[in-house]
Amino acid sequence: MTVSNINVFGKLFVVATPIGNLADISLRAIETLKTVDIIAAEDTRHVKMLLNHYGITNKLVSLHQHNEDKASGVLLERLREGLSIALVSDAGTPLLSDPGMPLVKMVKDAGLDVVPIPGACALITALSAAGLPVTQFSFEGFLPRTSSARKVFFSERAHVTKTWVFYESCHRILATLEDMAEVLPLDRQIVIARELTKLHETIVKVSLADALALVSNNENMRKGEFVVIVDGAEEDDGKQLMTLEQQKILRVLLRECSIKTAVTMAVEITGVRKKILYQAALLIDQEKVL
Ligand code: SAM
Repeated sequence: MTVSNINVFGKLFVVATPIGNLADISLRAIETLKTVDIIAAEDTRHVKMLLNHYGITNKLVSLHQHNEDKASGVLLERLREGLSIALVSDAGTPLLSDPGMPLVKMVKDAGLDVVPIPGACALITALSAAGLPVTQFSFEGFLPRTSSARKVFFSERAHVTKTWVFYESCHRILATLEDMAEVLPLDRQIVIARELTKLHETIVKVSLADALALVSNNENMRKGEFVVIVDGAEEDDGKQLMTLEQQKILRVLLRECSIKTAVTMAVEITGVRKKILYQAALLIDQEKVL
């Protein structure tokens, strides 16, 4: 790209908007939204509430998951013509479980400027108040929709030692916690961050067992938007604490084989340390006697 192109082409601004509280927007974001030629929004009606609040009347176009491949091409043309564009989603930072990736990729691949205007993001907001380690964490977005796929997802993460975070809706929060309780140890610490920055903001840090009880017994805890944060497994408990699923496997094997064979097979299936499985097998065997 030549220096003159930099001046001729427009820029794409990726603008974070509030996740609930309309005051959570930066001065730079407001200035950008006021001065760009076009605002590309996930839902133009939704973003109008924000724009009206700040007296912003720029041209709006829609860019959502169903039209973004086509719409991104058109927007790239507008940038080439020298127009500037702000990309916003319904809430928080675009691209984070939101539309925008094809547009940003296309613009970057074309060698044009993409300028981030940082601000609210539900996962970062939740992590900042969770009281769980955040030096390293992984963000998992939305979980699979079926119970069986979620259980597989949880068992794959049962021994992950860093904190992990996911988004959840009010329709699935209870089912998701139920699935989690079948797979992860019930004493695992989790944080439920609900309705962040809004009137009914709730951030609770409890064991998985208590989280399940809280959400089952309290209808309000099944309303609104959720970020769920899961504490990582202890450095060593990846191989020491057994999940309910692993205990189930061992029990089934013990029904059919000797302790020695059951433990050998369980090591192979679950990856749990032999010593731990052997101790558990002895306890289960004892239950039979008592
Ligand atoms: N791009 C957004 C961001 O930066 O956080 C996330 C968009 S994603 C489509 C929406 C999900 O984010 C919700 O279903 C919920 O899981 C989470 N979320 C958004 N706002 C929230 C809030 N105020 N409190 C808790 N979770 C929220």
